[in-house]
Amino acid sequence: MTVHFPFDNSYAALPENFFARVAPTPVAAPRLIKLNRPLAERLGLDPDWLDSPEGTEILAGARLPEGAASIAMAYAGHQFGQFVPQLGDGRAILLGEVIDQDGVRRDIQLKGSGRTPFSRMGDGRAALGPVLREYIVSEAMAALGIPTTRSLAAVLTGERVVRDQIQPGAVLTRVASSHIRVGTFQFFAARGDREAVRALADHVIARHYPEAAQADAPYLALLEGVIARQADLIARWMMIGFIHGVMNTDNCSIAGETIDYGPCAFMDTFDPKTVFSSIDHMGRYAFGNQPPIALWNLTRLAECLVPLLSADEDKGVEIAQTVLGGFAERFNATYLAGLAAKLGLFTTQADDAQLSQDFLAAMAKGRADFTLTFRRLSDAAIDPTELGTVRALFDDPAAFDDWAPRWRQRVTAEPQDGAARQAAMRAVNPAYIPRNHRVEAAIRAAVDKDDFGPFHELLTVLTNPFREQPEFDRYADPPQPHERVLETFCGT
Ligand code: AMP
Ligand code: MG
Repeated sequence: MTVHFPFDNSYAALPENFFARVAPTPVAAPRLIKLNRPLAERLGLDPDWLDSPEGTEILAGARLPEGAASIAMAYAGHQFGQFVPQLGDGRAILLGEVIDQDGVRRDIQLKGSGRTPFSRMGDGRAALGPVLREYIVSEAMAALGIPTTRSLAAVLTGERVVRDQIQPGAVLTRVASSHIRVGTFQFFAARGDREAVRALADHVIARHYPEAAQADAPYLALLEGVIARQADLIARWMMIGFIHGVMNTDNCSIAGETIDYGPCAFMDTFDPKTVFSSIDHMGRYAFGNQPPIALWNLTRLAECLVPLLSADEDKGVEIAQTVLGGFAERFNATYLAGLAAKLGLFTTQADDAQLSQDFLAAMAKGRADFTLTFRRLSDAAIDPTELGTVRALFDDPAAFDDWAPRWRQRVTAEPQDGAARQAAMRAVNPAYIPRNHRVEAAIRAAVDKDDFGPFHELLTVLTNPFREQPEFDRYADPPQPHERVLETFCGT
């Protein structure tokens, strides 16, 4: 018979206390909303078959494919700073792993597939709204070139779930380099299970950091690798105006991908204090707090690894502290290089960091739209009168007026011409991001009217974020005052 999923499962071969073996709970009436055909092909799956009734049943968890591992992974985590020793996949099931066309191992997971031994009080289900949000934002992130989990499919279950409102139930098929989190290490470390921490570290090295296996101190190299990838990832978020919203340690991927799109959102008006999540009362996960929070999460990981770093605990702590000290340098290097590219700088000069910091400060002071301001600045690279268009994006342009001549002087001193600079800037400053009001509108149409048109259209636009799409101009616009969405919900 045909093997529809060429599974090659490695996590399920780890010790039994790493997961629970559990099958998805069948659902009433699966209906495919969206299949990511290019992604299916990259995974070596047949999109036509996934689109068939049998494929859709699998994507809804109504039947298990041949060779599936079907496990719920165990993990712990710090949620808003509080340690919870057992979380785990309460509404997700790892079907298994496949090797994609690039030779990379990928998890295929159903999210919203029913109760598991980790469900606690939850129903194991996902509501349509959050499933569509994750689909849209994760695919937008991928198109923006930011490491992220992907969305392979969204299906309706034909059942209702009860949240703050009654919503259609849905299942998201999530694809990830792996679903191993900082919280996975914490699960075993908190139990004092050193052998499990070591087995997990060995698995992660083999799977995500093979170069660490060759190092003199492989576990130290592992920690360095995770820190570097997280520093780069958060820098990328900061360059694009992304706010994750729930940077708990269980939502922090060891592979360095953006994972768990809950109350996430992109900022419109630039303000480092921006918070969208309805449950983030203290602003712990505000836009500007993301770098220190990432370091906080990595410190929790380092604590788990201390026994592997040295037989002597004090020595292990000292080693960990030294490596954690490298986070800031790595983050700053990636972030400042990214900002310089956004400003169209081809060369490096001593006061470039000041130039970009002053631009951000002017945007914050002038309440300018983060995405549009950078995009319009790209046009000013070719035509200085376009600086007037940029200026018009500021409520209060005073600081921008001081800054603009400095930028002109800095870029015109470089030999590259305006067209080259504009092209380079357009390649890093997107025209289209998943603006909150557009995401909400797509969700509302689907949930309230069973109309998936806006969802499909939004996805189409976001697939090419850097290219001008004149027919979809309006998607580049910030919200009108009455369209502004100030709060997002994780909806779990
Ligand atoms: P999240 O907020 O999605 O990161 O989830 C945090 C924890 O709550 C994880 O252990 C989830 O598996 C669990 N969880 C979230 N929603 C549900 C649900 N509807 N049913 C069962 N467990 C859930
Ligand atoms: Mg989570």
